[in-house]
Amino acid sequence: MSSISARLQIMSARIGRAAREAGREPADVRLLAVSKTWPAEDLREAAVAGQRAFGESYVQEALGKIDALADLGLEWHFIGPLQGNKTRPVANAFSWVHSIDRVRIAQRLSEQRDVHLPPLQVCIQVNVSGEQSKSGVSPAALPELARAVSSLPRLTLRGLMTIPEPTPDVAVQRARFASLRRLRDMLNSEGMTLDTLSMGMSDDLEAAIAEGATIVRVGTAIFGSRA
Ligand SMILES: *Cc1c(COP(=O)(O)O)cnc(C)c1O
Repeated sequence: MSSISARLQIMSARIGRAAREAGREPADVRLLAVSKTWPAEDLREAAVAGQRAFGESYVQEALGKIDALADLGLEWHFIGPLQGNKTRPVANAFSWVHSIDRVRIAQRLSEQRDVHLPPLQVCIQVNVSGEQSKSGVSPAALPELARAVSSLPRLTLRGLMTIPEPTPDVAVQRARFASLRRLRDMLNSEGMTLDTLSMGMSDDLEAAIAEGATIVRVGTAIFGSRA
């Protein structure tokens, strides 16, 4: 067995255990394999082992891999920072975008999404730990952005994503993930139907699953440490 497929099996067991400990169904937590910086052959190995959804952060790099692996029918998620001049390829080569943080980018994605494709599935990225440096909309600005995004015709707003400041303190991890869940619940109580919480990475996915993550984004624990 290749090391990638062995690590995928370990990851699937880890997700299953975290879900059961939280009283949740393992199948309700999807694994997004974050493959940024790794070559197409490594993704192919993961795909052969059964992995379908891949997350990428850099547009040019992702387009090459999407092209090289087109025969596999994979599902591509864009999870990186989005620039206005790069929205067109993202709008059309990906199924999901997790990193919407301003209305102008969402409008461009909606305008540029090919009419023959299903709507682009999107999450709004929220900055729940409040650092200046990290991208994501503030919790205070979220409701207005969510209303604007959900009105765009070629996008489907599925939920919220966050990348909290790393901390080994599990209680702090859980508090941040819980705040994303409460923001999702608040938007749903106002009439939205958001079913997705994209939260949790290699080092904090147990805390994220305990707080309701439906997509965990895992790179290092599958492909190894990035250079
Ligand atoms: C790189 C990245 C990940 C994966 O992080 P690991 O620590 O390698 O699991 C998850 N989410 C986003 C947005 C990333 O950029």
